[in-house]
Amino acid sequence: MNRTLLFEANMTSFFMKKLSLLLLMLAVALVPIRAARFAASFGNPGRIKSGYFAYPPIQPRQIDYKVIDNSTSPGNSRFKNEIGEDNAHYGVMLGSGYVFSLLDIHVSEGKGYTEVTLIVESFREAGIEVYPLEVASTIDNYIRVNSDYIQSFEGDALREFEGIMYHESTHVWQWTGNGQAPQSLLNGIADYVRLKAGFPSVNWGERGSGDSWDQGYEVTAYFLEYCGGLKGGFVAQLNAMMKDSYSDNFFDSLLGKSVDQLWSDYKLAYGNSPIASPAMPPVPGN
Ligand SMILES: [Zn+2]
Repeated sequence: MNRTLLFEANMTSFFMKKLSLLLLMLAVALVPIRAARFAASFGNPGRIKSGYFAYPPIQPRQIDYKVIDNSTSPGNSRFKNEIGEDNAHYGVMLGSGYVFSLLDIHVSEGKGYTEVTLIVESFREAGIEVYPLEVASTIDNYIRVNSDYIQSFEGDALREFEGIMYHESTHVWQWTGNGQAPQSLLNGIADYVRLKAGFPSVNWGERGSGDSWDQGYEVTAYFLEYCGGLKGGFVAQLNAMMKDSYSDNFFDSLLGKSVDQLWSDYKLAYGNSPIASPAMPPVPGN
C-alpha cells in the first residue's frame, strides 16, 4: 500500500475526529438540555474517557504545532523530498493527539505547554556526531529530528518519520516521576505509544525478546503491551502515577504482582523463560 496514502487516510480520520469534537462542543455550548443529557449518559462531559473519542473532547486551549526545517544542505534532501513540511506538521499534530488519547492526558492537567516545535536538522552539522546515528531528541516541548538519520534510513522514510513523531511526542507530554523514573521506562512507554499507533520501526526486535523489563525501547514497550493485556488502561494509569514520583512498586499496585514476577510471566508466555524447566508449556508460535 502506498504509504503516503496511508498517512493521508490517517489525516482524514484525524480531521473527522476534530470535526466531531467541534460539533460536540457546539452542542454542549448551545443546547444546555442536551448537555445535561449528555452528562447523564457519559458522566461529566469534561472527563469523557478516551476510546469513545480518539481525542479528549474538551481542551481548554489549542496547541500550536510548528515545524522548522533546517535540513537544507545538499546531502540532506530526503526529508524535503520524501516527507516535507506539510506531512511533518500533520505528523507532529497527530503525535500529540494520539498521546493525549492513549495515555488519557487532559491538557488542562498536563504540562501546560501551548505549543510544540519540531526542528529537523543535521545533528552532524550541529556538532553531534555519534554512531549509530541518533534518531531524535526531545527537551521540554522541542522535538529535534536528525536529518542525517532520515537520509541514511533504509526503507519508507515517511512511515519511519511518523513513528518517530509518536515516540518523541510521548516525551513531550509523559510524566517522569519528577525525574525519578528510569530513562529506559520512559523510552519504553514512548515506543509503546508508537507500537499502539501502528508504526513500529522495521528495526525492532521481536515480542518476547530482551533480558530485563527495563532494557528500554521496544523490549520494554512489548512488556508494557503484555501488562496492558492484563489490565486495560494500564500504561495510562502508570503514567498518571508517575506525575510526582516513581517506584517499581507501581506495577504491583496496579497489577498485584512485582515487576520482576511480571517479567518472568511475560518471558514464559513467549517461550523464552529463564527457568530451565517451566511448570507450564510456553505458548507456541511466538
Ligand atoms: Zn526516546
